[in-house]
Amino acid sequence: MRSFELYEPTTVKEAVDTLTRLGSKAKVLAGGSDLVAGVMKDWVEGPGMPLPEALIDVTTIPQLRGIKVDRNGATIGSNMTLTEIIESKELKQQFSLLTDAAHSVASPLIRNYATLGGNLNQRPRCWFLRGPDFHCYKKGGDACFSVSGDNRFHAIIGGELCYIVHPSDTATALLALNAQAKIAGPDGERTVPFDNYFISPRENVLRENVLKPNELMVEVFIPTPASGTKQTWMKLKNRDVYDFALVAVAAAFTVENDDWKDGRVVLGGVAPVPYRATGVENQLKGKNIKNTIKQAAAIIRTVARPMSMNAYKVDIAQAMVERTILQALG
Ligand SMILES: Cc1cc2nc3c(=O)[nH]c(=O)nc-3n(C[C@H](O)[C@H](O)[C@H](O)COP(=O)(O)OP(=O)(O)OC[C@H]3O[C@@H](n4cnc5c(N)ncnc54)[C@H](O)[C@@H]3O)c2cc1C
Ligand code: SF4
Repeated sequence: MRSFELYEPTTVKEAVDTLTRLGSKAKVLAGGSDLVAGVMKDWVEGPGMPLPEALIDVTTIPQLRGIKVDRNGATIGSNMTLTEIIESKELKQQFSLLTDAAHSVASPLIRNYATLGGNLNQRPRCWFLRGPDFHCYKKGGDACFSVSGDNRFHAIIGGELCYIVHPSDTATALLALNAQAKIAGPDGERTVPFDNYFISPRENVLRENVLKPNELMVEVFIPTPASGTKQTWMKLKNRDVYDFALVAVAAAFTVENDDWKDGRVVLGGVAPVPYRATGVENQLKGKNIKNTIKQAAAIIRTVARPMSMNAYKVDIAQAMVERTILQALG
């Protein structure tokens, strides 16, 4: 691996100042499980994706730690590890969708040092992107190798130019919980709902989220769900040991007399950004869930555009939407 400079700021301001001074040469570092043990170790680089020359370790900033739950919701510092999130009794009680999703990430060892900020901002896992020999669109090249190559794990919805699937399980859960991120930059702080946080290849193939090079994620806020909200997480993997989602479904909704009142259904593993299935939600709205769920889940077929080797994911996504919602209903 190429050597790099390491900075250890102790405040958010110091980190932002250092990022601003060093420009595109620098990257934020948290647990390092993706950036160092993945991207940099494997020399994943290209004209649009240069290897960083300096890493700004944000795990030395106390402000980025902590979990606070009050009547308004939960605030989670971006440096909290996935294990700390899973082990929080307060989060488990009110936001089981997030703790279950976090628990399904990778292995216990990785969850012990992988952070929430790192999980949400990790780079995609397309095997062409992670291979040094493929200068695809996402690295600034002029081709997508998944179109004619092995695309069995790629996107079935919303791919254009690039057919990655967003790798983060916590992102899928947080979008279903209507959460938002607080971001710090040279002009102060801004708040971005996860509805608007992720960027599809159609908007900008070189980016996956709204973070600018001199910004960092400070914390995540999840509003307290309406009383009686049902939450369920379901993830299907290719193998039983740790793995990324083939398809994941996060559902959070309220019910009145078995009718769908309000809520969100979000899919992971199917699109370049966590995919909110508004078509499914609209089909269910105000209707008896058990009577309508089959028809609602079938909406997935109308939005899916599978590639040559991944049509199987459409069947799985449809079945999992149905199962997840029925399981949440009890
Ligand atoms: C074998 C294996 C299996 C895995 N399985 C899964 C899985 O099933 N589900 C899943 O969701 N993930 C999975 N992952 C990915 C893993 O969860 C991520 O690598 C991890 O969560 C990243 O966290 P980190 O703290 O180590 O981030 P780092 O590697 O330090 O950083 C990752 C990225 O986030 C950026 N970043 C980090 N913190 C911040 C911040 N505060 N503000 C702005 N940017 C920031 C960094 O610049 C970098 O680009 C797996 C990884 C491995 C190696
Ligand atoms: S899907 Fe995206 S990351 Fe993968 S080869 Fe195509 S352009 Fe590159």
